Amino acid sequence: MGYTEKVVIIGAGISGLACAYRLGRLGIPCLVLEAQERAGGLISTIRKDGFLIETGPQCPRFPPLVWQLVRELNLEAEFIAGDPGAKRYILRDARLYRVPFSPAGLVGTRLVGLGSKLRMLTEVFGSSRPPLCEESLAEFVQRKFGAEVLDYLVDPLVSTIFFGDAHKMGMQSAFPALVEWERNEGSLVRGAIRARKSKRPVPAGDPSRKAASANSSRDSLRVTDALPSLGSFRSGMATLPEKLAEKLHGEIRYGAGTTSVAPLPKGNVAAAAWQIDLSGGCRITAAQLILAVPAYVAEQLLANAAPELASQLKAIEYAPVCAVAWAYDRSQLTNGLDGFGFMVPRREGLETISTFWNSSLFPGRAPEGKVLMTSFAGRGTNNDTATMGDEEYSRIVEAENARALGITGEPQEQVVWKDLRALPQYNVGHAQRVAEIQNLLHRMPNLAIVGNFLRGRSIGDCVEVAFRAAEDVHSRIRGAII
Ligand SMILES: Cc1cc2nc3c(=O)[nH]c(=O)nc-3n(C[C@H](O)[C@H](O)[C@H](O)COP(=O)(O)OP(=O)(O)OC[C@H]3O[C@@H](n4cnc5c(N)ncnc54)[C@H](O)[C@@H]3O)c2cc1C
Repeated sequence: MGYTEKVVIIGAGISGLACAYRLGRLGIPCLVLEAQERAGGLISTIRKDGFLIETGPQCPRFPPLVWQLVRELNLEAEFIAGDPGAKRYILRDARLYRVPFSPAGLVGTRLVGLGSKLRMLTEVFGSSRPPLCEESLAEFVQRKFGAEVLDYLVDPLVSTIFFGDAHKMGMQSAFPALVEWERNEGSLVRGAIRARKSKRPVPAGDPSRKAASANSSRDSLRVTDALPSLGSFRSGMATLPEKLAEKLHGEIRYGAGTTSVAPLPKGNVAAAAWQIDLSGGCRITAAQLILAVPAYVAEQLLANAAPELASQLKAIEYAPVCAVAWAYDRSQLTNGLDGFGFMVPRREGLETISTFWNSSLFPGRAPEGKVLMTSFAGRGTNNDTATMGDEEYSRIVEAENARALGITGEPQEQVVWKDLRALPQYNVGHAQRVAEIQNLLHRMPNLAIVGNFLRGRSIGDCVEVAFRAAEDVHSRIRGAII
């Protein structure tokens, strides 16, 4: 069986869903093909016996564009704000220390010594320049602040956020703003201050005010400045993709894994340009194809159709993650779980990367008297994650957490899940690779790629890339019709 669609999107993670949603708002219908039986990809919530377990984002940021989606989907009443001031901890020598997020906190912390503190607090008075070649995050932090800051402040944070290895992550690829601040101002602090000033609302009476307020994105920033930046939904993060999928009703096909895509001869932007084969033997043709799958899937799909593009996508590394969610009776813990959770520096030699205290973050995550926590483990370089059985591996992580949090007895509920290619890595050379991918895509007007391996791994980044791709496709189709 075969038929033609104007636009086909492969993948119903947040990137594919946001792209389809935006196209719909622009008046362009599309078909979304999803391999699984549900939408959301990495964003997924397990609701089990009164516990609400997040297998992906636990308490993500909600930047203005995501807020725009929340509003348009009428999800504001479902939103629950996270506490940005909630305490976060770092484990050092089996003790938990609060993460110092302010100069006063830095002075008082026992996570790093006096020399490291002085280097951080006096950075504003010095002047440095980034090297011409891209540095790794580890090289950058060691050059600016020393090895102890890398090991006990930076590594636990980047491991938690990116599942990344600071020795591989590229500054230009993962933190371009920091490189720019150092290059332009000679100091990160001075660069940050300048960047912050340039974002401030224009004061009344300023002659440029009228022009500035005509800029809608700036206005939306001002409005959303007052909104909570961290949060989730009462029924979990899956609410967002579920609601998007509901809005796209009829435009998503589940269990529709794409096995290959091939360009059709003489395809132009209006005519059928791609032939798409699905696992069940179905064939669809489309004028515009948008890939919203992980880079390693896009690479396989494009291997014959666009080998140069495929080889760039293949070079993007992914980090593995093993996650375990545990439920305990509150009486089993000596730690009060007051805060967000804790992070573990690689130097501590543990498998645990971070543990989130879900029942402290939001109400309704566990029944009365119980606590729920989720640990992420499996350092990028550690093969144990791939080879060990779930039960064996979770025992190791459970023992590490029991020591850190004073837990006695067995967990009352446990859910383990593993993803050997969980998140793309913004390693040295990634920014250049993405620029090359964009160059190659410019030569293929019927193909777009969206996803968390292009401009950032956050939900906000995915939505931004997806909206932009939808707008480009809309312009192309409109241009072809006019
Ligand atoms: C543990 C964890 C914690 C995170 N924490 C945060 C956080 O705190 N804040 C934040 O902003 N972000 C966080 N993220 C990142 C964010 O969730 C992801 O980057 C984002 O959800 C990726 O969305 P995506 O649509 O690009 O990709 P995916 O979610 O991977 O979606 C890709 C989709 O394509 C489908 N697919 C694959 N192959 C095929 C095929 N052949 N045919 C059809 N369909 C196919 C898949 O089934 C999937 O549905 C976290 C991620 C993880 C894993």
